[in-house]
Amino acid sequence: MADEVTHGTTRGYSVFGCRCEQCVEAQQKYTRAYRSTESGRAVVRRQAKIQAKLQSACLNWLRENKPKVLEELRAQVRREVEEQHGR
Ligand SMILES: [Zn+2]
Repeated sequence: MADEVTHGTTRGYSVFGCRCEQCVEAQQKYTRAYRSTESGRAVVRRQAKIQAKLQSACLNWLRENKPKVLEELRAQVRREVEEQHGR
C-alpha cells in the first residue's frame, strides 16, 4: 500500500517522518553521499555562510539592544569553556 512506511528508506524518514534505526541510517547514508558531491558541498558551504551571517546578525542585535544580556552570555560561555579545560 502506498501509505505504509517501508523502513530502511529515505522515504520512510522524510515522507513518513519515521525515526527508527533503519530509516535514520538510510537517511544518513543518503545525506553523506549527497554531501560528497559537488552540489552537495555547495549546499553545505551556503548553509555555513548563512549560519555565520545569522550568528553575526544576532550578536549585533544583542550588542545594540540588549548589551547586558550579551555580557551575561559571554560570561556564561567563558565559564563553560574554562570548566571544560579544567580550570
Ligand atoms: Zn522506519
